[in-house]
Formats: sequence, C-alpha cells, structure tokens
Amino acid sequence: MRRIELVDVCRLASEARGEIDRIFLHWSAGHYGQPYPDYHINIDKEGEIYTPVESLTEVLPHTWRQNTGSVGVALLCCAYATSNDLGPEPPTELQIECMAQIIAILCRELGLPIDYDHVRTHAEQANIDSYGPDTTWERWDLWFLHNGDEPGSGGDILRGKAIFYLERELQDFNCE
Ligand SMILES: [Zn+2]
Repeated sequence: MRRIELVDVCRLASEARGEIDRIFLHWSAGHYGQPYPDYHINIDKEGEIYTPVESLTEVLPHTWRQNTGSVGVALLCCAYATSNDLGPEPPTELQIECMAQIIAILCRELGLPIDYDHVRTHAEQANIDSYGPDTTWERWDLWFLHNGDEPGSGGDILRGKAIFYLERELQDFNCE
C-alpha cells in the first residue's frame, strides 16, 4: 500500500481513460488507519490517500458483480456502525471533502459525468442489486454521512460536493 497525493490520483485516472466507466464509493466498515487492498483508493481520517494498485484498470473485489470497468474508493471508517448510528469512528469532514475532490478529479480525467449513472455509493448499488438498505442491509456504505442525516442522502451530497469542487476549486488542477 503506497501513500499518494491528489496529483497521483489525477495521473492514474488519465492513464485509465476509456477503460473505466463507473465509480463506486465505500466505507471500509473498519478502523481509521486501516487501509484495505479491495479498494483502488483508500482515504484515511485526515484525508491521507493510499492505493494498492499501479493502475486503476486492475480489477479489485469492492462491489459485488460490478467490479469490471469500475474504480472503488473507500473512506477508512465506520467500524461498529449500525443502521442508525455511525459509531465511534464515523466519516470525518476531511475524509468527506477528500472523497469529493477525488470524485471530481477521477470523473474529469476519466471523461465521466458526475451523476448517479456513473458515481454511486455502495448503498445505492446494493439497493439495485437487492442487498442494500431497501431490503437486507448487507451493504449500506455512505447511505448517510452523519448521524441524523436523511437516510439515502449520502450519494447526492458527495456528488454535489464533487461538482462544486470541479467547477469552483479544482478547475485549474492538473496532473503535473
Ligand atoms: Zn462497500
């Protein structure tokens, strides 16, 4: 697992352009400081970024039956979370903002729109594949980002923040 910066995410994405058409957003359901090789991008408590891959085209087992042509991005958090309490290690603001910036750069460099068809939380995909919060709650990553938030709001918040970053803060950010 190597530590990388946003500029490296930019470079990895530009190299994978044309081969990736979806991004899945996860939490690890583990501890802060504990990255997993299942995700292309791991985001730690203070926004530190780690990757186990040399290329985003490497197929990793992050989202059931959706791993080909997709990138998995995870917040390292949410050990002991339950369906109404994100527990002692919830997503931090730095993690959430970092994930939004990464979505923005990934989508721009991969040539994907930032929308529900191309960027989904694992909770949203699990609902489509009948193992999410609508049915069994086997996976519900990022269904909400803070205790008390509207259930199901996590995906729209992350996509909205990513669009903001792309238009307002990162429009001049490049891979150099
Ligand atoms: Zn997941």
